[in-house]
Amino acid sequence: MSQTNSNITLYDTTLRDGAQGEGIHFSLADKLRIAQRLDAFGMTYIEGGWPGSNEKDIDFFREAKKLKFKHAKLAAFGSTRRANAKVEDDKQVALLLEAGTPVVTLVCKTSKLHVEEILRTTLDENLAMIRDTVRYLVKNGREVIFDGEHTFDGYKEDPAYTTACYQAADEAGASYLVLCDTNGGSLPSEIAKITSALLAKVKKAKLGIHTHDDCGLGVANALAGIEAGALQIQGTVNGYGERTGNCNLVTAIANLQLKMGLRVLPDDKLAQLRDLSLFVDEVANQRPSGRAPFVGSAAFAHKGGIHVNAVNKLARSYEHISPELVGNHQRVLVGELAGRANIMLKARTLGLKLEEKSPEALKVLEQIKHLENEGYEFEAADASFELLVRKALGQYKPFFELVEYHVSIRKNSAHGFDACEATIKLSVDGEKVYTVAEGDGPVNALDAAVRAALIRFYPRLESMKLVDYKVRIIDSTSGTAAKTRVFIESSDGDSTWATVGVSYDIIEASWLALRDSVDYLLARESKIHIDISEIVAESTKLL
Ligand SMILES: [Zn+2]
Repeated sequence: MSQTNSNITLYDTTLRDGAQGEGIHFSLADKLRIAQRLDAFGMTYIEGGWPGSNEKDIDFFREAKKLKFKHAKLAAFGSTRRANAKVEDDKQVALLLEAGTPVVTLVCKTSKLHVEEILRTTLDENLAMIRDTVRYLVKNGREVIFDGEHTFDGYKEDPAYTTACYQAADEAGASYLVLCDTNGGSLPSEIAKITSALLAKVKKAKLGIHTHDDCGLGVANALAGIEAGALQIQGTVNGYGERTGNCNLVTAIANLQLKMGLRVLPDDKLAQLRDLSLFVDEVANQRPSGRAPFVGSAAFAHKGGIHVNAVNKLARSYEHISPELVGNHQRVLVGELAGRANIMLKARTLGLKLEEKSPEALKVLEQIKHLENEGYEFEAADASFELLVRKALGQYKPFFELVEYHVSIRKNSAHGFDACEATIKLSVDGEKVYTVAEGDGPVNALDAAVRAALIRFYPRLESMKLVDYKVRIIDSTSGTAAKTRVFIESSDGDSTWATVGVSYDIIEASWLALRDSVDYLLARESKIHIDISEIVAESTKLL
């Protein structure tokens, strides 16, 4: 089935609330990449940022206008007009309109304490701020989602005032009235009770739920809100967010669909849940949590005789769902099994024809198993993955070969200079090329040398740029020295692609990722099919 049949909308705020999390930093390129992925996955709304709070978010909305979202509606986040001022004169509100998004999400005070003590205005003025701003944005053609701050705490203090805030937004034309457990201190029973109470008081708008995980109840609270009648769930991928984080949408989506019977996504999208989770972790440079519900590597890992024996006979004997539903796979911790279904699925999403039982598929599986064991991660490195599959399918010829490289770093404290220089010798169709280049750092120098060497053979490389570079130290499974995984994102102005390299040495890991990056661009544009025997020889070299 490819249709959904629930009225629940998925609202993702990874790029705004998620970015508030400790250790989460998104570049502009990261944000655009994640937004596209969230759209492809099937989020209903994607909150891109707060244009009134920083330049990067303004840039994001400018660039996002050029992207074609297939499914999602983009939302700009901001607050109501200032107290005792006109909404038309409010700069922050003007920036929300300039963002040019179909949706604006407005954060508003709905707690008496916050209005009086933090905002320091009158209760009536706060109601006027809500009414004016919602109305003004609606009049300007925006769908307005009303995020009421501290709904539950506010309601507990003074239910009449919190209700009045929601009614003001309802009358002014907001599409969703979102109840926020901003401090994350509520229990599911309280969420359910207050959601039901507010639902009875609004006339037109639907309710939404936005929760935080301070009590470890972010997802539970959001689900309690949905059960009580909210029709929008807000959260972040992998639960990124301030303090202990937001409602983890990955977990929430799996529960909505598989436990509560609310079909928020088509089945094929649900099967991409694990990929989405790993993708966002990789882009955010976060180590994926093995214990993440549904999608973690340990979520369906079985260790020890009885369980392993039982799941071999009947998987559901020790598994609450079939792991494939969310794109995960069963693991047996002794003698791990690679996720064939995952790999097939990923190859298909890249448009590569890989028959499940074919020798090529087996070869790809074996290589991936081997490389993953070496520390490779292909979830966010589509270009490296595609090269691997192309090699197995015989749709690849080497464009160049490495003869040698040398990278040197010199630091002179007395004269205050640092110098990085890379020399590289490559062979192109039997012809040797030798170049030297300098760079800001060793990888930059190596990148410059590679491209200087190849540009006369492949002028197309002129447009290629390295846009992101991430390094992760990974645990060694063999108990010896730690390895380094390098993740590179490149762009040719039209598209971006990502590659990965792993080695004990950071320069070597960088080289492997760089090599794939150049190779990918060249391979993508050539339609050369060559003899399979050559491919076998080439891919064994890779290992
Ligand atoms: Zn929040």
